[in-house]
Amino acid sequence: MTRFSLKRPTILVLVISSLLAIGWFTLLSNSDQQVNRTEHTVLAINWYQTSAEFRALSYQAYHIGRMMLDQELKKRSPKKRAIVVDVDETVLDNSPHAARLVFENRGYPHLWDEWVNAAKAEALPGAVEFLQYAVSKGVDVFYVSNRRVDQVEVTAKNLVARGFPQAVPSHMLFKEGESTKEPRRQTILKTHNIILLFGDNLNDFAEVFEGKNVQERGAAVDALKEEFGKRFIVLPNPIYGEWEGALYDYNYRLTDSEKDQRRKQALRSFE
Ligand SMILES: [Mg+2]
Repeated sequence: MTRFSLKRPTILVLVISSLLAIGWFTLLSNSDQQVNRTEHTVLAINWYQTSAEFRALSYQAYHIGRMMLDQELKKRSPKKRAIVVDVDETVLDNSPHAARLVFENRGYPHLWDEWVNAAKAEALPGAVEFLQYAVSKGVDVFYVSNRRVDQVEVTAKNLVARGFPQAVPSHMLFKEGESTKEPRRQTILKTHNIILLFGDNLNDFAEVFEGKNVQERGAAVDALKEEFGKRFIVLPNPIYGEWEGALYDYNYRLTDSEKDQRRKQALRSFE
């Protein structure tokens, strides 16, 4: 029988390895360095930028819009008709900005102003043709966006360059104070009959969707299900949105690691 004994150098090696292991474990469990800030957005951006399905969905949204517009034109309207569109990820594609955030491993609003000022965003498939058609039928277009009001001019430059109609300040209701778009929709309603709204975010359609948690958002959509594909036309945005904010209870100050945890906790699996 051999007796197991530890010699001093062996003990030293064991102590050092234990300390290293504890240090590594602490790093893994407490530090944000384990969670890459932008890695989770890569596949969504890939989908947005490369999938033909994305293009098809955008055409689909604007084709549904045209069918609904044609139906509306057969009815009488007491006021001039209007179509309300959001800007970002509804008529303009800002995915190059999201891609740049991946390369720099930074979060929004890093370089957002630089991107907006470059006025280089492409139009979403089908958007220009649809809005030009609407204007040709005597319908007004309003761009209701949460870009800042001081970004109206440069955004107009971008929209005009892509061929969008009525991209002039009087048709661009950008964010001046609060994020809610309801007061801006009410302003339009004073003079117009809003027949269609386009957006990538539920808040682009009605106040009832604002500030709700994940379950409440789902329930609010169910309650208004008749509106979708009729008066409310939704564009896909898997990169960001209130849907993500809802996962974090709109607390964007959570650490990267806490956000990662929330995302994983929200996954529905099976036993
Ligand atoms: Mg948007």
